[in-house]
Amino acid sequence: MNLLYVSLLSLPLLLTQCNSKNNQELIAHHKDYILNDQSPTLSCDNAMYHAKKLVDMGDRSSESEGFQRQLTYIEQYLKKCGWVPKTQPFEAETPIKKAHFCNLRARFGNSINWQKAPEAIVSCHMDTKKGIPGFVGANDGASGVALILELARELKKHPDLAKKIEFVFFDGEESFEPHMNEEDGLYGSKYYTNSLQNQLPQYLINLDMVGRQGMKIKVPSNTPQKMYEVYQKGIKHLGFNKSRWGVAWGPILDDHVPFQERDVEVINIIDDFSDGSWWHTKDDNFNILCGDSMKECGQMTIYMLESLLNHH
Ligand SMILES: [Zn+2]
Repeated sequence: MNLLYVSLLSLPLLLTQCNSKNNQELIAHHKDYILNDQSPTLSCDNAMYHAKKLVDMGDRSSESEGFQRQLTYIEQYLKKCGWVPKTQPFEAETPIKKAHFCNLRARFGNSINWQKAPEAIVSCHMDTKKGIPGFVGANDGASGVALILELARELKKHPDLAKKIEFVFFDGEESFEPHMNEEDGLYGSKYYTNSLQNQLPQYLINLDMVGRQGMKIKVPSNTPQKMYEVYQKGIKHLGFNKSRWGVAWGPILDDHVPFQERDVEVINIIDDFSDGSWWHTKDDNFNILCGDSMKECGQMTIYMLESLLNHH
């Protein structure tokens, strides 16, 4: 009964959220997305273009060949948009072995002081889950990366804002064993907060699973009050549908947690991964993505950055 209820409800949603292209969206996945560096606003197609490139690299789990290929792709595109990438390699003990990881940081402009904390971090994880045959992590992996790449292009037009921000692509978000726990997973964000504990930002916006057709964003119930208020204002200001933009029943273990534990004002913009059966299966592929979902998450990110950082 629950299932029927959900599927009846989600049908009109599915049709409305990709409203810019209506039924065309259903065949859009078969078209070749073209990167338009001149797009005047955040572009659904640009985000989809990057997502397709990343998904086509296949497995991008920590230490994999696909991970290296992805890293090169991200670095090259960031440079093209005027951002300076900086890798942050490290090792950590996992329950299986000692593993090699590599976060990627990026700042905007010419005179970058890496010793000085940025005002805000916009982050995602770029590693995909290991050990699932055929897994390509389209929503859980590629969507966050693709959106930040499109944000890098968009924010180039707003250098004053861009200079206050650092992008961080975390490695090792996923656990090595099947299920994440306090010890296994979040390797990249833990390393970042431990190694740069005196240079942490005031704010962090983490983007995880931000591209699914029919997404239901559920921010953690313990989101700090200030961030929660800006998020709610954003939903109103941007005219977003409240059935797509909500709050989870409880806290969520993700890359924002090590920052929250160090009193950074955080928000985790994350899809409801219990909605449907795609999460951590090979069904999390390019066909479940929708450029409009990534665009909405991008608009929310920019709205929050402007509200938090444009001091008067
Ligand atoms: Zn995952």
